[in-house]
Amino acid sequence: MTTFKTPTLSRRAFVGGVTAGLLTPGFAAYAQLPSNPDVVVIGAGAAGLAATRELMDRGLEVVMIEADGRIGGRAYTDMTTFGVPYDVGAHWLHADSANPYNRYGRDNGFTIYPAKDEWRYFDKNNNEVSEDEGDKIWDDLSDMYRAIGRASDGGRDISAAEATSSVTGPWAATAAFNIGPWSMAKDMTDFSTSDWWNTPDAGPDWFCTEGFGTLVAHYGAGIPVSLNTKATKIDWSGDGVTVETNQGTISAKAVIVTVSTGVLAAGDIEFSPALPDNKQQSFSDISMGTYNHIALQFSKDVFEMGNDGYLIYQVADDGKAFGTLSNAGGHGLAYCDVGGSWATELEQQSVEARIDYALSKLRDLLGSDIDQAFIKGDATSWGQNPLTRGSYASAEPGAYRMRQVLRNSVGDRIFFAGEACHPSQWATVAGAHLSGQSVASNVAREL
Ligand SMILES: Cc1cc2nc3c(=O)[nH]c(=O)nc-3n(C[C@H](O)[C@H](O)[C@H](O)COP(=O)(O)OP(=O)(O)OC[C@H]3O[C@@H](n4cnc5c(N)ncnc54)[C@H](O)[C@@H]3O)c2cc1C
Repeated sequence: MTTFKTPTLSRRAFVGGVTAGLLTPGFAAYAQLPSNPDVVVIGAGAAGLAATRELMDRGLEVVMIEADGRIGGRAYTDMTTFGVPYDVGAHWLHADSANPYNRYGRDNGFTIYPAKDEWRYFDKNNNEVSEDEGDKIWDDLSDMYRAIGRASDGGRDISAAEATSSVTGPWAATAAFNIGPWSMAKDMTDFSTSDWWNTPDAGPDWFCTEGFGTLVAHYGAGIPVSLNTKATKIDWSGDGVTVETNQGTISAKAVIVTVSTGVLAAGDIEFSPALPDNKQQSFSDISMGTYNHIALQFSKDVFEMGNDGYLIYQVADDGKAFGTLSNAGGHGLAYCDVGGSWATELEQQSVEARIDYALSKLRDLLGSDIDQAFIKGDATSWGQNPLTRGSYASAEPGAYRMRQVLRNSVGDRIFFAGEACHPSQWATVAGAHLSGQSVASNVAREL
């Protein structure tokens, strides 16, 4: 997820490579699934890892279970597909020093560097426009920011599309693409103005040369986890909780659930007795958007912006477009990112078709010479991943107040953490980490 250069709003970011040792952290696995810990943590993404470490530091016995065969969840760096760090999920370190991974990376030998502000703009006829001309997008973008702010401040928690309908400048569709699909992973019709507006800008974005997923895996190395262990049911009819998994049953005093709202809304984990109606409603009201990378590898910098430049083109009214981070981390990878309903629609196409789609548009913009430098591509499908059921979450129009409901614990023994539970840094790895840490310290105090 990314945003245009934004003086007032900066919500998403990208990658880069270090020592071989850092790229292959080892996991600590339980020899046997412990049966009576104080707390069970479900999910070993950024939130679950931070929660487990916090609980362990406070002297509690914890069992963290993870349905997948690896840790990291939506923050994972694939070193195999391209032979260079490829962040299949999160790539930007948002929120400057408010992102704990910024400091963690520096302290642990990673290369953390600021995202730069270099852009190339193209118009509807695929002609490059001057930066001054391209900056006219700011007129429409600023108008949209103001319109969303007015709606939210006026107590109208409506869709961003409704709030911005009067903005009709030449770059309006491009501005909407930035705020909606490229940032929120949703079309403008599908998210709440209040949710968006009440998220403070936490500062500039940064990159990690070795990959954001590598950073998260490094943090998680050594934290015990039971991989390939899927929670299917949480029974809280008694004093504590009993978590049923495909590897057996674990009884504990409390559970911290860190799976996405997509997984919760789908009912993949049964609660017995059922959770209160309002709580269940919060899972679908803070709904998942779809955001995917179409990653293209080139043997040289065909974008001619050095490392980590941005390429955007004027978006047509149908909103079917992608924004590009070029030559990420100097590794020759371009992230052509799609979001919202167009990303969902594209998931129905083959990976090859999606690569062709992105390559063909870039050919229109940059010329057919790029073909000689093209090596290979890949495309992610987070909407179809059964362990996430989407990319990251935001409130449906009118449902901003349900953020708080999502965060609330149930019965003093079922706690919820994860990106969607953070009050301001939701949809980010930092938010997931901070949410896990904070919920765990509350749990430790209560137990
Ligand atoms: C394509 C993409 C790009 C993104 N870009 C950025 C970015 O640039 N910067 C940024 O900060 N954020 C970005 N994000 C968002 C960020 O990745 C997430 O907000 C964050 O990683 C979520 O962490 P989490 O711990 O809340 O959830 P997750 O990472 O989803 O962790 C939950 C874990 O629970 C596991 N699980 C699911 N069901 C079960 C079950 N039944 N039993 C046991 N385990 C289960 C899952 O496998 C998963 O590992 C992006 C996300 C995507 C998909």
